[in-house]
Amino acid sequence: MSHEGIRIVRGEEARRQEMLEEKLPADAVTPKKVRVMKTEGTGVEIDWKDGHQSKWSFAWLRNACPCATCHEERERTGRMPGEVRPKEQKLFMMYEAPVRPLEVTPIGKYALKFQWNDGHDSGIYAWDYLRRVCQCDVCLEQSDSE
Ligand SMILES: [Zn+2]
Ligand SMILES: [Zn+2]
Repeated sequence: MSHEGIRIVRGEEARRQEMLEEKLPADAVTPKKVRVMKTEGTGVEIDWKDGHQSKWSFAWLRNACPCATCHEERERTGRMPGEVRPKEQKLFMMYEAPVRPLEVTPIGKYALKFQWNDGHDSGIYAWDYLRRVCQCDVCLEQSDSE
């Protein structure tokens, strides 16, 4: 178990670096269609100009909040964007309170802003960031095999 942990941390460190360094082409970070399933409470889907289709659940997005506070908190605890806090996992099982946005507002042409039902609303999710943390099956498989 402890040996596994060491390997996983190293892999995440490498992924973190990749996410920072890789430059994405303009078509990969320009959305063609954005679907926010607020009523269904499921998540967000984006069709990009380069043909890629991304999706994220609301719970994932909340845990990947790019605001300074959440970012620092993740850095401190070594979590990847979207990863559930160990403490929260237990809370979710007890209360089953699903994370969902009360309001989703476009910020200019470059980002989405979420006002979450837990009161948090300082995260600005830029297209570039969202594409880098794409949670579609293809991207997940790629990051798993690394
Ligand atoms: Zn935040
Ligand atoms: Zn993807």
